[in-house]
Amino acid sequence: MPPVTDALGGAFDASTRCPGCGASMASLVLQRTPHGEVVVDLCVRCHALWFDAFESVRLTPAATLALFEAVRVAREPVRAEQKSLACPRCRAGLVETRDVRHTTRFVYWRCPRGHGRFTPFVQFLREKDFLRPLAPREIERLKVHVRSIRCTGCGAPVDLARDARCPYCAGPIEAFDAGAAAATVRALEERTTARARIDVNGLADALLGAGAPRSRVGTPLDLVETGLHVLASWLPGR
Ligand SMILES: [Zn+2]
Ligand SMILES: [Zn+2]
Ligand SMILES: [Zn+2]
Repeated sequence: MPPVTDALGGAFDASTRCPGCGASMASLVLQRTPHGEVVVDLCVRCHALWFDAFESVRLTPAATLALFEAVRVAREPVRAEQKSLACPRCRAGLVETRDVRHTTRFVYWRCPRGHGRFTPFVQFLREKDFLRPLAPREIERLKVHVRSIRCTGCGAPVDLARDARCPYCAGPIEAFDAGAAAATVRALEERTTARARIDVNGLADALLGAGAPRSRVGTPLDLVETGLHVLASWLPGR
């Protein structure tokens, strides 16, 4: 297959290899704001994203929801320790970059030659304000229904009876932000005639246990996965 030339003049294979696990990534063509398109590569194994643009891309609400849906239907993530990652375009070692937006800390790995950035999906959610740490009273409520959750940062189980943070990576207990999710769906509605069934309290209930899936007793509850499922149920046509 002839190489495709990107905006930076670099050549790359049509299929991007995931810097995290080496699997071939799925290319999603998404609308960005204020206008235009961006190709985002998604690894369905690691739930990680590769952006060819170095800068943080602003996706439209519809594109954001399409990306969430692609992650939701992907199978369970394989949480691999991210050590030395290589750029899928030039093989240079990606540089770990820590950033902060409002009060949220997030991390991504960027090519030193500007080919793009590798962002685990959870970090993308943090960067875009879709994840927030739960308040102590919310953790108390969660504890009533749920024994353990999966750490959003490292995937380790967190025993809510014992731990207020992840005992492995010291990350906070965080969940999908119902308000941010609702705002995105409402912004989508403004552009379409379809009406979504937004139930912010329902999302909060699901995240805090009352509506949490009962089927997988003993499995730590994944608050990102739960958020994506509830969000998907709001969208028209479901
Ligand atoms: Zn991967
Ligand atoms: Zn590179
Ligand atoms: Zn952790």
